[in-house]
Amino acid sequence: MYHPALAPAVPLVEPVWREAISPEDFAANLADVNARIAAACLQAGRSPASVRLLPVSKTWPAERVRLAWQAGLREFGENRIQEASAKARELADLDGLRWAIIGHLQSNKARQLVRFASEFHALDSLALALELDKRLQQAGRGLDVLVQINTSGEASKFGLAPQDAAAFLHALRPYSALRVRGLMTLALHSRDVPAVRQCFAGLRVLRDHLQQIAPAGMQLDELSMGMSGDFELAIAEGATTVRIGQALFGPRVMPDALFWPGLAQ
Ligand SMILES: *Cc1c(COP(=O)(O)O)cnc(C)c1O
Repeated sequence: MYHPALAPAVPLVEPVWREAISPEDFAANLADVNARIAAACLQAGRSPASVRLLPVSKTWPAERVRLAWQAGLREFGENRIQEASAKARELADLDGLRWAIIGHLQSNKARQLVRFASEFHALDSLALALELDKRLQQAGRGLDVLVQINTSGEASKFGLAPQDAAAFLHALRPYSALRVRGLMTLALHSRDVPAVRQCFAGLRVLRDHLQQIAPAGMQLDELSMGMSGDFELAIAEGATTVRIGQALFGPRVMPDALFWPGLAQ
């Protein structure tokens, strides 16, 4: 199933993702990913406990998520609300399942997210913050959110420009149901290691700066950055959550251009 055109951003190890079709496969892929996380942490002088693995199940059917759950995985990231909420419904019988929405969300989909998601990594507009807060208040619940930053400067990427983040955080203060935990980014989709690393370093530097000036009570500890192809670099730059799809589930047959509109196919 591996196709060179789908190669992830930074093949620090030659990436041959193995499709998981049983709980045992998921356990084996998980062991590999955990070993890579541990090695990256060792190299960075960090504790592996300081990095959270968020499995990304986008494009895979609910039955694959069920197998992953049988292998012990409980949290799953999805970047499309429709697809995510359909899976959440199908898998409502599973104990302890938690959903993270990690992709762009239109304001008119806020209500859908509030029904089943426990975190959101792609907050990038006040219109959406307002709508999410309203729906959360109605539901009597809160939501962990990360602010998405466009660290690569690509026009095709969602997220705030770094220089707009400080004002944005202050503008979020009235939305008390949103628990702002930190920042999220997608690095440049490239094999240029220094350029990819620069995106991750940029997010960390921005987070460190924002921690000095953030509204009282806003923690900003989290850096959600790094995917199957580049997470070692992200860990070296301080990632606290890595979002891993292909290394756990297997290669995606759909082109990445579907998820990063503007990328050449
Ligand atoms: C798909 C996706 C990931 C995971 O990418 P993989 O290459 O499958 O590890 C991470 N973050 C976001 C926002 C995604 O859309």
